[in-house]
Amino acid sequence: MEEHRHDIAIIGGGPSGLACGIAGVRAGLDVIVLEQGSIVEAIRRFPTNLVWFSTPELLEIGEVPFVIPTLRPTRADTIRYYQRVSAHYNLDIRPFDAVEDLGKEGEYFRIGTRRGMSYSATNVVVATGYFDHPTQLGVPGEDLEHVSHYYDEPFKFFGLNVVVVGGRNSAVEAALDIYRGGGHVTLVHRGEELSEGVKYWILPDIENRIRAGQIKARFRSRVKAITRGEVFLECPSGEERLPADFVLILAGFRPDTARLTAYGIGLDPVTLAPVHDPATFETNVSGLFVAGSVVAGKNSNKIFVENGRQHGERIVRAILSRHTGKS
Ligand SMILES: Cc1cc2nc3c(=O)[nH]c(=O)nc-3n(C[C@H](O)[C@H](O)[C@H](O)COP(=O)(O)OP(=O)(O)OC[C@H]3O[C@@H](n4cnc5c(N)ncnc54)[C@H](O)[C@@H]3O)c2cc1C
Repeated sequence: MEEHRHDIAIIGGGPSGLACGIAGVRAGLDVIVLEQGSIVEAIRRFPTNLVWFSTPELLEIGEVPFVIPTLRPTRADTIRYYQRVSAHYNLDIRPFDAVEDLGKEGEYFRIGTRRGMSYSATNVVVATGYFDHPTQLGVPGEDLEHVSHYYDEPFKFFGLNVVVVGGRNSAVEAALDIYRGGGHVTLVHRGEELSEGVKYWILPDIENRIRAGQIKARFRSRVKAITRGEVFLECPSGEERLPADFVLILAGFRPDTARLTAYGIGLDPVTLAPVHDPATFETNVSGLFVAGSVVAGKNSNKIFVENGRQHGERIVRAILSRHTGKS
């Protein structure tokens, strides 16, 4: 019996993968979305109390209004929205089945998953984001069990010394949340000051907490090593040791170059962005596309939901004009 072949297989059920899938469904194509976790898994793993900087209309996909009674959505609002929109479009999503292999057999792609499933597709869209690849400091002790590259909620830090490394939204918001949750926080940042991209309603809060000594801060400081109870810093004044029951390294994300290379996709030597046609998002491998934040390489703050959600329409248009004659 001939195996079923999808028009498009999308790897990653984040906002960009879903938007692409919906664009395909609306164009009458046979689409499957393969997701290693739940629908919008990366967002599900965001800090529990996160409020987005984007207002809801900038996060909409599939022309479905995202209506909430507040100015900005919470993490929970957003998860609910994306999951309901996927259901509305009857998107064929296979959750909790990570893609492990992707190869081309003649004209078609063969996709193998962790659960041992195998899929065939004429086109593949890689929309895997960057969330599985937090920036590593590369210092001794970074892999100890009290060190994490993700933050969810403050409760386990109550009454304890926590060193938070980073100077952007994730680090600043975690520092404030932990402080308010009863932890003793020191924020360590290699820059002169906090990033100017810190949410405008958060910046005065953190600056005032630092000024008041409620959150300690070390600027122009680098972590040299981490041990079970301390963080060793190189500061402008010399070396310093901070007591640390927990260490959170929240210093952004990096591109998953290994995956892209394994798929045969070339990388820009400077930005590490996948080689692609900016008009269609097709990579150097014919029929293999990239969508969403994975497109940005090292410049992970250049593509986010607001613009990544638009990639799918262009990809589907390119696929339609080439493979099916539909337009
Ligand atoms: C704390 C925080 C706050 C943010 N706030 C905003 C904001 O206010 N506005 C905004 O526009 N952006 C914001 N962003 C950025 C935004 O979340 C990302 O740009 C967005 O999630 C990217 O969407 P994506 O679909 O490209 O990737 P992702 O959302 O990362 O989705 C990728 C999906 O691929 C899946 N996946 C990965 N590997 C595999 C595999 N091998 N097989 C199957 N599935 C796989 C993942 O599980 C994930 O579900 C924020 C990011 C963070 C971290």
